[in-house]
Amino acid sequence: MTDTAAIDAAVRLRASGLRVTDSRRAVVDALGERPHASADELYEIVARSLPGTSLQSVYNALGDFVDAGLARRIEPAGRPGLFELRVDDNHHHLICRSCGAVADVDCVVGHAPCLTPSDTHGFAVDTAEVTFWGLCGACAASGSPTEPAQQEGRA
Ligand SMILES: [Zn+2]
Ligand SMILES: [Zn+2]
Repeated sequence: MTDTAAIDAAVRLRASGLRVTDSRRAVVDALGERPHASADELYEIVARSLPGTSLQSVYNALGDFVDAGLARRIEPAGRPGLFELRVDDNHHHLICRSCGAVADVDCVVGHAPCLTPSDTHGFAVDTAEVTFWGLCGACAASGSPTEPAQQEGRA
């Protein structure tokens, strides 16, 4: 776990060249509190401290964050987009197919792309999305039935 939550949201916003607003600060704080959250989940957190916030303003803030490199959006197959503050280290994710838990796992190489195809077909490859799908420890221990696999993770 990083100390992202401890870093002041306004400092992060300014460092990314973004104007500091109450809703943006609240979204940064929510991301620090709950990494790998969807926009809807972040909205629920933000609405606790800023009841007047709209879901649209949370979406707007997240879009601005991703554009500015402050946040990263991951899009696991069959799931809503998830957001996190941990950027630029090309880390990957473990995702529980049963309960949806997401965990970070360091990229062994560290930079993108960490995998190169045997034949690039002339493409200039700049990233490889690696998602590890399976059951988290709790789900594996409880033996709960796995949801039908929607789509295997790409590697
Ligand atoms: Zn699970
Ligand atoms: Zn992550």
